Amino acid sequence: MIITKNLGKVYESGEQSHVVIKGVDLQINKGEFVAIMGPSGSGKSTLLHLLGGLDTPSNGELRIDGTEISSLSEKELAYFRRRKVGYIFQNYQLLPSMTVSENIAFTMNADGVPQKKQKQRIAELIKSVNLEGKEHFFPSQLSGGQQQRVAIARALAMNPSLILADEPTGNLDRKMGKDILHLLSRLHHDTGLTIVMVTHDPYAAKFAERILFFKDGEIQSDHKLVEGEKDHVMENLLAKLNA
Ligand code: ADP
Ligand code: MG
Repeated sequence: MIITKNLGKVYESGEQSHVVIKGVDLQINKGEFVAIMGPSGSGKSTLLHLLGGLDTPSNGELRIDGTEISSLSEKELAYFRRRKVGYIFQNYQLLPSMTVSENIAFTMNADGVPQKKQKQRIAELIKSVNLEGKEHFFPSQLSGGQQQRVAIARALAMNPSLILADEPTGNLDRKMGKDILHLLSRLHHDTGLTIVMVTHDPYAAKFAERILFFKDGEIQSDHKLVEGEKDHVMENLLAKLNA
């Protein structure tokens, strides 16, 4: 699903250049649920932006679902972002003046999906994220967990093969966070969706099957999470995180 070779990002400001991603080599297979952990400022969000085509790499190769991203025109890249990737943010990023249904329909509108099809798809999605009855609510009338479920429905609207989630439970209390993680887990199991989730919460990371530990713009270690060994792996990672 994702192959990167020597993927890098440098930010230039005046005379200074700041290397944020230092040549990442990574392979993520179709259907994997991967968590990325690491200290604040280590480049996790930047890496996710690169993977989602929200930002352009300074160097290296990036192939998503068979497409080399750097070979795309601007128009093709916009299409890629709408069709291939669903993005979920810590602060939901819903449009406050739009209802739940309108927020979910946003990408479908941009992509010219016929109204009748949109209606059907919205109904399916509302059901799948358990928001029946909230169709005409505005984001401000919903709890954080409900807003994040709207954001997940919106991310799924175009049937992407990849979900990128940046601290999706970062603004939620434990109970609401748990609901969101169970929802993502269920979608992953039911549909074979590939998920890459940045989190610094060990509770959230344990929902994944694999954890990448990211530090100073590099992948420092890569762990398979097998049932029964999760707590042990997590203890080691937390020790590294707090070192
Ligand atoms: P993380 O998500 O791991 O906390 P980020 O990817 O947000 O880290 O940031 C990594 C580093 O890149 C930080 O030092 C941050 O200041 C820098 N950075 C992020 N975005 C930009 C930008 N648009 N311009 C300049 N520097 C940036
Ligand atoms: Mg971040």
